[in-house]
Amino acid sequence: MSEQLQRDTRGRLRHLLTLDGIERGILERLLARAARHVRPAGRRPARGTALRGRTVVNLFFEPSTRTRASFTLAARRLGAEVLDFDPEGSSAAKGETLEDTLLNLQAMGADAFVVRHAEPGIHARLARVARPGVAVINAGEANISHPTQGLLDALTIRRCKGKDFARLTVAIVGDILHSRVAASATTALMALGVGELRLVAPPELLPPDSRIRAHRVVNDLDAGVAGCDVVMMLRVQRERLASTGVHVPTGAEYRQRWGLSAERLRRAKPDCIVMHPGPVNRDVELASEVMDGPQSVILDQVANGVAVRMAVLEELLAR
Ligand code: ASP
Repeated sequence: MSEQLQRDTRGRLRHLLTLDGIERGILERLLARAARHVRPAGRRPARGTALRGRTVVNLFFEPSTRTRASFTLAARRLGAEVLDFDPEGSSAAKGETLEDTLLNLQAMGADAFVVRHAEPGIHARLARVARPGVAVINAGEANISHPTQGLLDALTIRRCKGKDFARLTVAIVGDILHSRVAASATTALMALGVGELRLVAPPELLPPDSRIRAHRVVNDLDAGVAGCDVVMMLRVQRERLASTGVHVPTGAEYRQRWGLSAERLRRAKPDCIVMHPGPVNRDVELASEVMDGPQSVILDQVANGVAVRMAVLEELLAR
């Protein structure tokens, strides 16, 4: 449903609500466009004028470091004005619906809304009330999806491993049940034809349904990382555990079974890259020596996030 809603009558993207059902051609076009915005570390970032005169509004109802900052930088580097909406100090706190908030900000000339929210379906509801030409961009929807994260993960893999995803074995490890990152990354990787996608987690941290597609499920970390080209580690989403009632051991106990150490990483291919969407709980799911080591591409993911968000903003707004 969201997939139809995010297209205009000519089939072009007008919102970015989900990666589910998105054509491989569109994914590849977004990745190619984003790749042109990536610069080597330490060099000046890419800039452009495609969004000059446009206004992008950030509506974040859950905490964010990377996503919010990178959308802001992406929009500004393309010449847009950015408004940071503060839900705490706004009429949302007085009972205004989010749809009405959007209509009010739209009346002030907003062209795009970058929205993070814990309520499933809210992005689609906002897209339904947005005026034609005004874009809603999903920057995190409950545990359901995080499309720009899926794109930046795919871009990071493509830049490290090349465009032929069919050659690759990828493991996503940890709290898959509560992770919108896993949901969008798996969708992107399956659409791009990844050779083998493994979900590596204890049974209680896997979704009970077929909501997340992959080729294999592995309930053991050592077996899960063996022979991999890419290992993506996830944080346990402790803030979402109450909603499912799942018990997950803390600290040392979790690390012992599900933490990626340098020794465990040796089971993967020698040139395996290690990814994590952040925030990392150091020395819980990921040992510091791996996080700071030569196989970690975690900060490349962060840099690629700005490039991906520039590409998405251009795709939706620069017509
Ligand atoms: N930053 C990611 C998200 O917003 C991952 C996480 O929080 O663990 O979903």
